[in-house]
Amino acid sequence: THQTSGGFFGHPKGLSTLFFTEMWERMSYYGMRALLVLFMTASLQEEGLAFTVAAAAAIYGLYTGAVYFLGLPGGWIADRLLGGQRTIWYGGIIIMCGHIVLAIPSDNTFFLGLILVASGTGLLKPNISALVGHLYQPEDVRRDSGYALYYMGINIGSVLGSTICGYFGENIGWHWGFGAAAVGMAIGLIQYRRTIGNLGDASLKPENPMPADKTRLAWRIIGAVLVAVALITGLTMQGAITIDPVTAAQYVAVAFTLTFLAYFGFIYFRGKLSGSEKRKLWALFLICVASTFFWSGFEQAGSSLNLFARDYTDRLIGAFEIPATWFQNLNSLFIITLSPFFAALWINLGKRMMTPSYNLKCAIGLIIMASGFLVMFFAAQYAAEGLKVAPYWLVTTYFLHTVGELCLSPVALSAVSKLSPRRFAGQMMGVFVLTYSIGNIFSGLLAGHFDPNNISEMPNLYLQISLFTIGIGIILALISLKSKHWESLGEESQTAQP
Ligand code: GLN
Repeated sequence: THQTSGGFFGHPKGLSTLFFTEMWERMSYYGMRALLVLFMTASLQEEGLAFTVAAAAAIYGLYTGAVYFLGLPGGWIADRLLGGQRTIWYGGIIIMCGHIVLAIPSDNTFFLGLILVASGTGLLKPNISALVGHLYQPEDVRRDSGYALYYMGINIGSVLGSTICGYFGENIGWHWGFGAAAVGMAIGLIQYRRTIGNLGDASLKPENPMPADKTRLAWRIIGAVLVAVALITGLTMQGAITIDPVTAAQYVAVAFTLTFLAYFGFIYFRGKLSGSEKRKLWALFLICVASTFFWSGFEQAGSSLNLFARDYTDRLIGAFEIPATWFQNLNSLFIITLSPFFAALWINLGKRMMTPSYNLKCAIGLIIMASGFLVMFFAAQYAAEGLKVAPYWLVTTYFLHTVGELCLSPVALSAVSKLSPRRFAGQMMGVFVLTYSIGNIFSGLLAGHFDPNNISEMPNLYLQISLFTIGIGIILALISLKSKHWESLGEESQTAQP
């Protein structure tokens, strides 16, 4: 299963399969997401759904929250019922069906489309991320670099999606944009099917299969839950949407955090783990904490930083005004240009046995991201004086956010794949992906405190976010001095004992 031959930029050939599958999946995901709020708030004449901005924002938040929450059952299904390879395949098919449903110009099927995309992503996303790690032996130094490459694929997909689906959706018709997302996912599926041999038998079977007599019951329960969700959504739709977005987000944030702790605790106490597996789980817990705080800040990109670009940034170059939305692409563009550099950096440090621990890298990533908000603190002070600031303030912030992301996000994926017990690989990735959910919801709640009409508050808010996050980063960096040892427990005992 573990090819050592240089198949894809010096990595196992299976990485190419997963790189392109995830690239197309992300193309469809981010392409659809770019249109989602625009479509929901567009008037009936514009062929939109004519939802209020509050309702659209609530649905958007709940949708993105649900997408990553569903990684938990998705990971469980791979570990216990289907194995990663097949779960990814069915997930992709369900995602494609979701986009096809959205492409049908009928408002009644809108929520069905969202449910399908979210469920399919829950099946695909954690398992494909876990499978990348299974291409490498535990001690292979290429793992981090492999994840850096894979992360580049994610962002190429994101640029493709926002560009292609955005173009079709805004210029030809919403449903054409959703259709383009379906085509993207279809290309990804065809590619996956044709090159699946590259994966060998990695995650071909469930790592910890359910006893045969319980399998059928498990499927029945899954089916019943699906029917219940469909019914509840249908009923909510009939009564129109009357949820208060902020209250809903607060409840969901608490519920998801509790679920995260409960699931983590369950694996820790009930997973029949060995001592070193438990230590590694602690190291993973710290990574999840870093990830949650990271995305809570980072995801301001779409909200408060987006508003800053629109209202307080001098976007005129001669007669040309840079659209505010262009700033949204800076992150992906920086990722694509910087990823090869980071991939090489991790490989080189690994060869010299100087790899910083996962926990330290994540702490550093968090601190670098937070320093981006320090830049915003200064920029916001000029804005508070009534000036429009130069674009390079935001460019610098996005640059720092991206460097932080590359120290944390692909690294954390790699860490999850390496540190979690194999029989929980999918579920642990599902738990980790839940930190995306929690981070995104917190970020929305944080951004709610930014009032574009009360600009004098803005510098302090940015300063608070920055200092608070830097504080967390420093604490995690200090703990990492100890957790560094936990991360490599298994291997040490292997080499230490003859
Ligand atoms: N951009 C990354 C991905 O799509 C992380 C997403 C997130 O919100 N954390 O995988």
